[in-house]
Amino acid sequence: MNRQCEQCGNPLAGRSDKRFCSVKCKNDFYSSQRRETRFATREVDQILHRNREILQTIMGEKRNKMTIARLELTQMGFNFDFITGIYTNKQGKMYHNVYDFAWMAFSTQEILIVRRKGG
Ligand SMILES: [Zn+2]
Repeated sequence: MNRQCEQCGNPLAGRSDKRFCSVKCKNDFYSSQRRETRFATREVDQILHRNREILQTIMGEKRNKMTIARLELTQMGFNFDFITGIYTNKQGKMYHNVYDFAWMAFSTQEILIVRRKGG
């Protein structure tokens, strides 16, 4: 079977694990992959970054834990649908991570925000 460069389609010679005919093709391939990823992830990244900035603004430098009205977060533009992870503590409370912060539905009206240890 003839193998081809994954970037330009030129026939490949040499080692069977070779994927590109040249360093330039290899670089072009990975830079276009990065460009595509940057484009595809931009919108979600912006929402997540905004969520984190809102939490940081609310918490300030020193605070590690506080509650805030859900409505107040919403009014600041916080989007509850976008998180970076999820965990349930020993008491069965579900925390939603936003990078180094996390929030939990404290009641129907209130949100508990915590700073996660170690990011
Ligand atoms: Zn090539």
